[in-house]
Amino acid sequence: MPTTSTTSAREILTGLHDVMASKASAQAKLNKVVKIIAEAMASEVCSIYLLRDGVLELFATVGLNQKAVHVTKLALGEGLVGSIAKDVAVLNLAEAASHPEFAYRPETGEEVFHSFAGVPIVRKERAIGVLAVQHAEPRAYDEIEIEALQTVAMVLSELIANAGLADRAASAATESRGSGTARIAGQKLVVGMAKGHAVYHQPRVLIEHTVAEDIEAERHRVYAAFARMREQIDTMMGHAEFGTVGEHQEVLETYKMFAYDEGWSRRINESIDSGLTAEAAIERVRQRMQTRMRQIDDPLLQERMHDLDDLSNRLLRIVSGQLGTAAQAGLPQDAILIARNLGPAELLEYDRRKLKGVILEEGSLTAHVTIVARAMGVPMIGRARNVRRQIQEGDLVLLDGGEGAAFARPTPAVQEAFETKLAASQKRRAEYAAVKDLPPITRDGTRIAVMVNAGLRDDVAALGLTGADGIGLFRTEFQFLVSATLPRRESQQRLYRAVLEAAGDKPVIFRTVDVGGDKQLPYLHASGNGEENPALGWRALRLALDRDTLMKAQARALLEAAAGRNLDIMFPMVSEPWEFDQAKTLVEEQRAWLAGRKKRLPTRVRYGAMLEVPALAEMLDLLLPRIDFMSIGTNDLTQFLFAADRSNPLLAERYDWLSPAILRFLRRVVRAADAANVPVGVCGEMGGRTLEAMALVGIGVRRLSITPAGVGPVKAMIRSLDGGAATALLDRLLDKPPPDMRAALAAWAEKNKVAMA
Ligand code: PEP
Ligand code: MG
Repeated sequence: MPTTSTTSAREILTGLHDVMASKASAQAKLNKVVKIIAEAMASEVCSIYLLRDGVLELFATVGLNQKAVHVTKLALGEGLVGSIAKDVAVLNLAEAASHPEFAYRPETGEEVFHSFAGVPIVRKERAIGVLAVQHAEPRAYDEIEIEALQTVAMVLSELIANAGLADRAASAATESRGSGTARIAGQKLVVGMAKGHAVYHQPRVLIEHTVAEDIEAERHRVYAAFARMREQIDTMMGHAEFGTVGEHQEVLETYKMFAYDEGWSRRINESIDSGLTAEAAIERVRQRMQTRMRQIDDPLLQERMHDLDDLSNRLLRIVSGQLGTAAQAGLPQDAILIARNLGPAELLEYDRRKLKGVILEEGSLTAHVTIVARAMGVPMIGRARNVRRQIQEGDLVLLDGGEGAAFARPTPAVQEAFETKLAASQKRRAEYAAVKDLPPITRDGTRIAVMVNAGLRDDVAALGLTGADGIGLFRTEFQFLVSATLPRRESQQRLYRAVLEAAGDKPVIFRTVDVGGDKQLPYLHASGNGEENPALGWRALRLALDRDTLMKAQARALLEAAAGRNLDIMFPMVSEPWEFDQAKTLVEEQRAWLAGRKKRLPTRVRYGAMLEVPALAEMLDLLLPRIDFMSIGTNDLTQFLFAADRSNPLLAERYDWLSPAILRFLRRVVRAADAANVPVGVCGEMGGRTLEAMALVGIGVRRLSITPAGVGPVKAMIRSLDGGAATALLDRLLDKPPPDMRAALAAWAEKNKVAMA
């Protein structure tokens, strides 16, 4: 019986080190490897099976009949070896033949052996082979022996991959999960359909070297990586935001707990002591944790293990120096990006021609990353829990944003159904395009202005494509988010001029920079970091007025860009009328300065305020006489009305835009603006949805600024709607709200044949 000391992974690895370094052929190396393991474990049989052309082939053995080498083949899922590879799981059996999956192969002569232990040889999280030992005596292998086998399997995976002996991990994966289409359910964030291959925003590190040359040096590397990771987490805790919006305080607390956990670093060091490199040791401990994770039923504990998995990946990236995201690594032609969460700036770093879709584990409808994805025309689903467990890098993924679902590794039947649906949606889009020049007039003759929200240079194309009435919200901060440094005034001016030129005689409403909250600019924002409630913090106009150099430069850029044309400017997050006055004065001073230098000026400048802060609604009598127009930003407004963070995934579906509270509030504001003869519109995401847009028209909104993809459906809705009847309906429903406002509106729309998308 083998003793603990003879089974030590270190002893085996020392032997393997020389084999790996030798110039022998790959086959000769494997022959040596099985011998070393068998000897070290005092085991009668040691065999290696490798996945070739989708089947597991016996590649090397001691103890089994040599004639069986390259002859014995098992399909995935067939026999013990096939099950290990298929499930990527260990088998440890005192009596192999009594296992239901046991498949007897006479050519191997294995009938005399009773006990069996096998571990998968893993590459990119998939099995590319199996390492197995057998004994004549019926006995279960102890944990240390299994550990040693797994450690050796890890080293083998390097040897096998380098020699190109097995199927490549990605294709093996697809085959091994041939029947394993996974359906991932999530929240609809950006509608649209996409087909592509999974790419992780934070790619998994591929480990190049597994056997340590110098154990002390590896220990040192891990020590330094832990120090760096702890530092990063402490900084993130200090900043609360850290560029990505996903890393909420609770997650950070868990990160911190694990980062300082002595047990974790000790286990990694033990693996290094057994002869692994720092990377391999971290990965080895991670794999062990994953195995445990699969056995846990408690969702909360699973969640924590998930965090630890994230952190292992972070540590691996630090230790291997592979720090960039997939945006820096470059995307394949058709990428479906998978991430826990993203910040808007991170998403904007991706090449939009190659980025076909996004799946987030977190995310919410009005988070800015969603707005950016919508602007980029990239379908997205969110709150897809466990997606990173169900989709591996390289998997084929079909994403249906409108359904809030994705399919990984789809069967041909699923693919066909998807293609059919895609064709139907393209046809519908073509139908919308055909009516793009028809004006959005209700059946009883009310003209509604349907404009688009934009922020990227290319968005202007949407005006022509959708037949929208103009740009009702140009989010100027997008340019700031995509830049590594503060955009210079000249480049701001170039963008604004290009947008105005492309819009021709259609109006464009420029919103001054709205940063802060979930739109952090690392180069600008040092003093704004560390806020406990960034959405309620030093952001938008507050920041712009306090740091007015930026706003002055932007005002100049806008005035210069609009020389000889009309210019519409609006200010975000006005909370009290004096803030509007101050912002307007600032622009007027720039206008006077330019006039003083005889520069060409805009023919007319109009100033608007965004109504996003509820307090402003109580000051309309004072505000309305000062402004030229008003735009209601329902994304922020609803988060403030309901006190529900717009980027918190836990609240993403809790409150409805169609709640009586929101609709009554909006109606009051719209009526006040109408009475004062101040044009008012809605520019939040809400207006881009047909049922919501119908309700808005019903409460008197006459201008919507929405996502370009919503223009066709919303126009079709308007053209099929009797506006007067909608107003009567809303008056009735808001007077005595039904328990389910959404259902009541939908039923009415259906009965009255209002076109809904
Ligand atoms: C809003 O808050 O509704 C809005 C349009 O602005 P943003 O989404 O950019 O905050
Ligand atoms: Mg806003």
